[in-house]
Amino acid sequence: PESADDPLLEGLNPPQREAVLAVDGPVLMLAGAGTGKTAALTTRLAHIVRSRRAWPSEILCVTFTNKAAREMKERVGHLVGPAVEGMPWLGTFHSIAAKLLRRHAELVGLQSNYTIIDTDDQLRVLKQLIQAEGLDEKRWPARQLAQCIDRWKNRGLNPADLDAAENESYANGQGQKFYRLYQDRLKALNACDFGDLLLHMLNILRTDRAILEQYQQRFKYIMVDEYQDTNQVQYLWLRLLAQGHKNICVVGDDDQSIYSWRGAEVANILRFEKDFPGAKVIKLEQNYRSTPDILAAASGLIDANSQRLGKTLWTTRNGGDKVRVIGVWDGPEEARRIGEEAERLEREGASLATVAILVRAQFQTREFEDRFIAIGLPYKIVGGFRFYERAEIRDALAYLRLITQPSDDLAFERIYNTPKRGLGDKTLEKIHRHARAGGVPLSLAAFEITDTDELPTKARNTLFALMRDVGRWREAAKLLSPAELARTVLEESGYTTALQAEKSAESAGRLENLTELARAMEEYETLGDFLEHVSLVMDNDANDSAEKLTIMTIHAAKGLEFDHVFLPGWEEGVFPSQRAMDEGGLSALEEERRLAYVAITRARRRCTIIHAANRRIYGQWTSSIPSRFIGELPQAHVEQETTLSGGASLWRAQWSEASDPFAHVARGTGRGPGWQRATTREFDTTPKRVAESTRSAASFAAKPRDDVAVGARVFHEKFGYGTVTAQEGNKLEIDFESAGPKRVIDSFVKLAE
Ligand code: ATP
Ligand code: MG
Repeated sequence: PESADDPLLEGLNPPQREAVLAVDGPVLMLAGAGTGKTAALTTRLAHIVRSRRAWPSEILCVTFTNKAAREMKERVGHLVGPAVEGMPWLGTFHSIAAKLLRRHAELVGLQSNYTIIDTDDQLRVLKQLIQAEGLDEKRWPARQLAQCIDRWKNRGLNPADLDAAENESYANGQGQKFYRLYQDRLKALNACDFGDLLLHMLNILRTDRAILEQYQQRFKYIMVDEYQDTNQVQYLWLRLLAQGHKNICVVGDDDQSIYSWRGAEVANILRFEKDFPGAKVIKLEQNYRSTPDILAAASGLIDANSQRLGKTLWTTRNGGDKVRVIGVWDGPEEARRIGEEAERLEREGASLATVAILVRAQFQTREFEDRFIAIGLPYKIVGGFRFYERAEIRDALAYLRLITQPSDDLAFERIYNTPKRGLGDKTLEKIHRHARAGGVPLSLAAFEITDTDELPTKARNTLFALMRDVGRWREAAKLLSPAELARTVLEESGYTTALQAEKSAESAGRLENLTELARAMEEYETLGDFLEHVSLVMDNDANDSAEKLTIMTIHAAKGLEFDHVFLPGWEEGVFPSQRAMDEGGLSALEEERRLAYVAITRARRRCTIIHAANRRIYGQWTSSIPSRFIGELPQAHVEQETTLSGGASLWRAQWSEASDPFAHVARGTGRGPGWQRATTREFDTTPKRVAESTRSAASFAAKPRDDVAVGARVFHEKFGYGTVTAQEGNKLEIDFESAGPKRVIDSFVKLAE
């Protein structure tokens, strides 16, 4: 079909058609949420193929998530039919870059089978480098270096490109040196990190004319969705590739720019017209997604931002409910309320797959998961681990399991060197060996082995300190509530301190999760009850095909839509986040507001915003203040509802009381890092009692060997030959011929001939 006759165009509005048909030359589609940008882009791709302007393999189409890429592939396949050969280059920047880089890896010193390392590996490599250079890792954490390097890569900067200021941003002017060392190390490992995928490809395109021209020719059409969230390196990439045919179409909404913390720059939209003179700018204004009230509420909210291009949105839909704002008493009530409403929707015939809870921060999911498990409501967590599956939560649970159950070997192995305390695999092997020989759990073997000379002094002392702590916590468990115990253990084990030292956005999130864990535990009388609850939650994996309610972060929900959207936790310090408020600047708050705009505009039929009057923070009830964003919603499109005594005016009163948005920070109820130390002193048991308690609590004493007796000549792998001088349970005192007198465990010796 030639151009305007294509039946694909039916149903599109005039500006959408224009966007689909304007295949040649640069196009900027700038429009608000739900106006059919993605729909138009998909149709455009299909139209280019059907009108035979290009083979699919000559089209480059960038989406923001792999999920979006899959959906688009499906839709294009559907629109174009199976007859078309080849597939378009359709995916995220990272997936496309990885595919390209496989072909040209040797140009940047890699082999084509290079591995892509994740953040954990990245940190491991950086730590090794920091240590090898003799730098104090406590002062200059690897995570900080990782952040700098990511930032440089996001901006397309190689080590040689760093200016003095950038170089200063790590270890007093050693940024460049470490960046270079890191890149060399990765090459030696035939590896690259996520940032490298884009940077390496950019370097290749920048330096190799032939390759650049090859791709400039190949990609006849380039399309980019969610363009407002491209960062510098992605932008540079596109600009180079598009210089061939200049057929580039980008689609975005400045009001939905929510990744500036990852280096995204809205400015990329603004300079598009400059980079591609004569670009056709298409605005879409008709929203097809949401009811008029939802649309008006979202538009009214985003109006409060000063840094925006501004646009009009309208809809021909009518009817529907106003945006509901519900005030509840506390977090559990919030979860109960949403659970009830979801069940009601289901009874009324809605599928749970059309219902979503969108949260500002990962830690918020826990309350819902607990509630939905309890009432048997199927849910899934998208784009992130379920609460109890996150690494830091599993670590904390491992400590608690070991305290209640000395024979939990998996728990022991998990916490043995977490946080890092310098205990290595060799020591673990010895503990294992002793445990096997004696038929005892690892934790007891670990304790016993510290009473001998089997380990080097340093390892022995460290292990002893750990086992003594475990014994002490076991005692403390009798006196403290589960939540108090958890806080104490996380504090005293050094776990919290290690996370705090990282000072990254990620570690801040992990600390929040741990706070949330302790909060969850406050509802349980005993640690046993709580751990049982957790195993039930963890076991909720079955039944994966059923339709489920979706819980996800707002960030992950970009581009998606649901009939019914619940937005919990709209309170100062949660949303906007404490971080954004602390930063204080306009731009951090404006980004939070854009996030709120994205959240509301995910809703097709019903949007429910919830705020709780009380949250438990560090085990204390604190009253929270409704989010400023609630106050900014245009009242005509909002319906207030509250379950609080004091009626609908309460949140207003709370809001105006907080005319100083930082007031509650000053009052000391803001979330700060760190656990309360107050409880730790109450149960300071003496080392002696603790040692006994470990032994008695474990009560697995190993059987002594009966083939070894005082006077026997024996052989020990490390100490050589010797004579047994004393036997106490399964421990032997041996006078070694060259090593002198030592205490060892009987399973470690062989009888000499
Ligand atoms: P976002 O900014 O959230 O990414 P968007 O602008 O990409 O939104 P789409 O997701 O493409 O919007 O479309 C929103 C909804 O409107 C979808 O359900 C889509 O099917 C529908 N839609 C798009 N265009 C039309 C149209 N011309 N007629 C009817 N429905 C449409
Ligand atoms: Mg979209």
